[in-house]
Amino acid sequence: MFFRFNGISLIKIGVHVSLFGFIVTSESHTGRYSTQRRKKFPPNWRANPAGRHHFDRRGKRERMAIHHVTEAAENFTCNAYLATGDRPTLVDAGTFDGVVDTISKHTDDLEAVVLTHQHGDHIGELEGICAAFDPEVYAYADHPLRTHSPKDGDTLDIGDESFEVVFTPGHADDHISLVSETTLFSGDVVVYNDGAFEDGSFGRTDRPGQSREQLIESIGRLLEATPETVETLYAGHGDVFHGDVREVLERAQERAERREPKYPE
Ligand SMILES: [Zn+2]
Repeated sequence: MFFRFNGISLIKIGVHVSLFGFIVTSESHTGRYSTQRRKKFPPNWRANPAGRHHFDRRGKRERMAIHHVTEAAENFTCNAYLATGDRPTLVDAGTFDGVVDTISKHTDDLEAVVLTHQHGDHIGELEGICAAFDPEVYAYADHPLRTHSPKDGDTLDIGDESFEVVFTPGHADDHISLVSETTLFSGDVVVYNDGAFEDGSFGRTDRPGQSREQLIESIGRLLEATPETVETLYAGHGDVFHGDVREVLERAQERAERREPKYPE
């Protein structure tokens, strides 16, 4: 059983029946979410119950929720996602000119922006976001606003969770994906749906500098890095997917491996 306590703590109480009667155990979790602590949670523990917003006692900062902050855009943009919580972080910047206002509704303290890659639809509003919030900027390839260069295997704190950086080139040669115990940000490597496929698609590789072979390898690496506990896929385009994310990755992999044009003439 989990109880919310004082607005910030989770108290776990287990009652065991033994020969000696009832033994009550309790464990409380507060403060920063560390990798060490994460390992103690059972596999079905949910860090981010979909659609729920929690506020701490000060009422200033939400516990982690993930908001699709480019949803209201009318122009072409990638999906940009704001993870609130301990370390408010934006994954991709997008090209929606209302993105700063949308972020401001959730936090005035954006600590970091992580770019999955630097195609124009992912970085258009980066400058405006940096001017408004002065966040750290994580990007694999060079960029004038970059402050950190994440490498494959690095760990990044996003919201309340710890994410592994997975280098996933093919669609773009600077592409990284981010995976935690519950969540995958896949950028344009794997998307749930697009004009080509409905339930497991992959980024285009038909333009100069792109490679289907590299992309296929990257999806394989993503599958290796994604635990079975991951239940939400936030991709750079298309819908957010809740469910068995590994199955979506497997379908995307199988389709990419056909080596057929994604968009036949
Ligand atoms: Zn792209």
